[in-house]
Amino acid sequence: MSKKPFLTLDAAKEIIAEYPTPFHIYDEKGIRDNVKALVDAFSWNKGYREYFAVKATPNPFLIKILNEYGCGCDCSSETELMLSKALGITGESIMFSSNDTPIKEYKLCNDLGGIINLDDITNIEAVEKACGTLPKKMSCRYNPGGKFILTNGIMDNPGDAKYGMTKPQIIEAYKILKSKGVEEFGLHAFLASNTVTNDYYPQLAKVLFELAVEIKNETGIALSFINLSGGIGVPYRPEETPNDIAVIGEGVHKVFDEVLVPNGLGDVSIYTELGRFMMAPYGALVTTAINEKHTHKEYIGVDACAVNLMRPAMYGAYHHITVLGKENEPETETYDITGSLCENNDKFAIDRKLPKIEMGDILYIHDAGAHGFSMGYNYNGKLKSAEILYKEDGTAELIRRAETPKDYFATFDCFDIYQKLIEE
Ligand SMILES: *Cc1c(COP(=O)(O)O)cnc(C)c1O
Repeated sequence: MSKKPFLTLDAAKEIIAEYPTPFHIYDEKGIRDNVKALVDAFSWNKGYREYFAVKATPNPFLIKILNEYGCGCDCSSETELMLSKALGITGESIMFSSNDTPIKEYKLCNDLGGIINLDDITNIEAVEKACGTLPKKMSCRYNPGGKFILTNGIMDNPGDAKYGMTKPQIIEAYKILKSKGVEEFGLHAFLASNTVTNDYYPQLAKVLFELAVEIKNETGIALSFINLSGGIGVPYRPEETPNDIAVIGEGVHKVFDEVLVPNGLGDVSIYTELGRFMMAPYGALVTTAINEKHTHKEYIGVDACAVNLMRPAMYGAYHHITVLGKENEPETETYDITGSLCENNDKFAIDRKLPKIEMGDILYIHDAGAHGFSMGYNYNGKLKSAEILYKEDGTAELIRRAETPKDYFATFDCFDIYQKLIEE
């Protein structure tokens, strides 16, 4: 499959006239169509709910769109909880799936009425301390250890992951929570990341549903919800086949009917905590080619850098690149596409086949809508870019301004040097 930008060169130029590159842009129509399809795929389950993983794209305007379709917020830090609160997304619309959690964050979550998803049995005391008494409804995070191998060969290593409890621990945790007055319970696990297969959720569901039956038999607890968490991936590479959320929903439905229903657990609500799947394909990093260099390799330097999109630098992630207006030109060149950081891993692409790039060409970096802007940092004193919403009516709305040097220096504002730093 070829990857098509949601923005034409003309549309991009119009936006750039107002908001200079680099910027992140999000496709409202794509976001809406996708969340509708997700909610539809799980409509067979009465209590179904998606809790958007805020860390993927912590922008209030985008989260508000998802909230129109019933999505809550999956938070794991103080500021994510604050963002959720400010949007009026509180109570059981908050899932707090944190780990290594500072005690005051449990308190904030509890004050907002959110559901605490316990990462470890040793955290029970902290939650008690933070909340006075334990909340009436709580969740526990499971980690089966070993390797999680999907039937199609995709593998992840829960045994190396810092999250969640072992089976004996989680059973013990439920017993303790019950004895301390907790009345409603959930179960959560996240066993593989960015899975581009329709099999992941059904296979994870089977593991969790069977565990739910065991929990019922051993503790008498009938779970209220099972949270399949994140992990549904997107096709970053053009040769990959996108997941079909309708097939995934049906796959989970089948396991639900096979495992939960016959064991008297047919009322369990299914929750998801997707991040990447909700946003990645519907966001792009738009950047301009500003330098070329012909040494031992052919380089194109752009005005964005790893500060705007860290995934390639951090773990060699592939992001497809389209040179806008040259969609149909032959890929005659082989380039490294670089940012300006004084770090050699600041490359959006290495040895990438692309059409010939002229200075001033606009590059569209695909699938930057999740874990893109949000992973940003300020190395080399680089500033974070703006975020723009490309609306259904074809207009563009600024939904976060770009940082200025004043933002970068803001944490010196209590020192004498501050005025000098921000002088024009
Ligand atoms: C990161 C994360 C998610 C979202 O993961 P995606 O791969 O973006 O879907 C969901 N839940 C938890 C607890 C996470 O840490």
